Amino acid sequence: MASPKYIFVVGGVMSGIGKGVATSSIGRILKSKGFGVTAIKIDPYINVDAGTMNPTEHGEVFVLEDGYETDQDMGNYERFLDTTLPSINYMTTGRVYQEVIRRERNLEYGGKNVEVVPDIPLEVLRRISEAQKRESAEVTLIEVGGTIGEYQNIIFLEAARMLKQKYPRDVAVVMLSYVPIPGNIGEMKTKPTQYAARSLNGVGLQADVILARATMPLDAKRKEKIAIFCNILPERVISAPDVKSIYEVPLNYEKDGMGDILCDVLGLEHRPSDLSAWERFVEKSHNGGETIDIAVVGKYFESGEFVLADSYISVLESLKHAAYANDVKLKISYLDSEVYEKDPSKLEDLQAYRGILVPGGFGTRGVEGIIAAIRFARENKIPYFGLCYGMQLAVIEYARNCAGLAGANTVEISKDAPHPVIDILPDQVEKLTKADYGGTMRLGKYGCVLTEGTLAHEAYASREGETRWDGAGRIKNGNTITERHRHRYEVNPAYIKQLEKGGLVFSGKSPSGVLMEIAELPTSTHPFFLGTQFHPEFQSRPLSPHPLFVVFIKAAMEKVSGTFSQPQV
Ligand code: GLN
Repeated sequence: MASPKYIFVVGGVMSGIGKGVATSSIGRILKSKGFGVTAIKIDPYINVDAGTMNPTEHGEVFVLEDGYETDQDMGNYERFLDTTLPSINYMTTGRVYQEVIRRERNLEYGGKNVEVVPDIPLEVLRRISEAQKRESAEVTLIEVGGTIGEYQNIIFLEAARMLKQKYPRDVAVVMLSYVPIPGNIGEMKTKPTQYAARSLNGVGLQADVILARATMPLDAKRKEKIAIFCNILPERVISAPDVKSIYEVPLNYEKDGMGDILCDVLGLEHRPSDLSAWERFVEKSHNGGETIDIAVVGKYFESGEFVLADSYISVLESLKHAAYANDVKLKISYLDSEVYEKDPSKLEDLQAYRGILVPGGFGTRGVEGIIAAIRFARENKIPYFGLCYGMQLAVIEYARNCAGLAGANTVEISKDAPHPVIDILPDQVEKLTKADYGGTMRLGKYGCVLTEGTLAHEAYASREGETRWDGAGRIKNGNTITERHRHRYEVNPAYIKQLEKGGLVFSGKSPSGVLMEIAELPTSTHPFFLGTQFHPEFQSRPLSPHPLFVVFIKAAMEKVSGTFSQPQV
């Protein structure tokens, strides 16, 4: 293998312009040329992982297979690269310092002064190299969080500079910039990009490629201007206009020759790219099928649509993958469950939706409203999909209203509920008493054994056409699947018999049989009522949508408004 190549993706001008999607898209292009690619995210936070950050501030906490709680961009990488990434591919300032301090305490620096430079960038580079070796990646993408010119990420840019100094032919720098069109001027302005390029020069780096994000495509004049003032070839200024779907981005970059440009910069051989499967997927996203309205019910919902889409990005993307696979369009409405607590008559509004989904969550707020919405979905035969908390709350609803367990609850909310049908996992008790919250939940990949003849089993076993499931969660070894977790509580084993007698089916269990992983109602009584203790949304991919999402959307497609028979349970 030729020497490994590295591409640093840095942000200029401002944040929030899609560096994660840009990095993922470059990865997709290089992968489509047959290169082995891996992607690393660096976050400048002191937090050791993203698990302790509020999703409405930082976006979704994406859980890797090995249980590390990371930034939502890792989800984008996994989805665009159709891969599974290990924890070494994510680092924060906190994580890097923690390791350097651990080694210093361990006398591993042999008595010398341990300094911010070079020891911190050296640890960053050690991690990058470990990630590269682990996958034998020909190209390693490294996204540096934050914006050029801010104090927090300077040490990571220094790592990039050190690597470039050592291997000048093997390191490329891509700067994602923003070209505004101020309303009162009505013209694209390149000055902020020029300043960003100079700030980058100030830390010893020169952009090889500039991705110019804008509401419109860049014209030749603007490309020329950026080229002159930022010291790069005009053909290496890539236009990155707003697009309808993030999945179009790799196709757009390729139109401007992104893949070959990077091959030139890095001295990689030119190879044709095959993005045909990806193109087919993007075409499906423009399908002319009917629109399926899905209600996502939960708390936090006063934060606004934009923030919520970020907090539940994997759920949203999984729904999209499944909708496109079924040739329908998707419309998501975020509904605040507290509304149903204040005015239960509002529950009737749920009739307008083809399916109801309750995502993962924590704490008390809005929970009774969610439970009321779940009851409404069950009684009115509206397809219901519960993820983690959404499964636990469905079990509580069922216990209260169908299994004669009045006052059933989770101990997360009420320590002395008469029927604690959701209880704390035994190994979590000590952690909570010690207030040891960071990275201590039941996290990452665990096996789950499916019961044959159930909706869950049927879904995972379905292998037709585009909905074929090739993801990491496919059935292996008998009826075992693996899925990712992030929770402290579980279905209380003491209540399982009673719940089953009431008609609830636990169609997925841990290999030991002790932990309930999937709860569902038989399809003879409800078209789709299913909850998972795990988070299937972390394993859905554009080209292999998750089977549970696919079947949920199928059930939603079959629901016709206003023609329900009354509940049978
Ligand atoms: N709060 C619940 C628990 O800790 C569910 C967590 C989740 O939805 N991710 O078990």
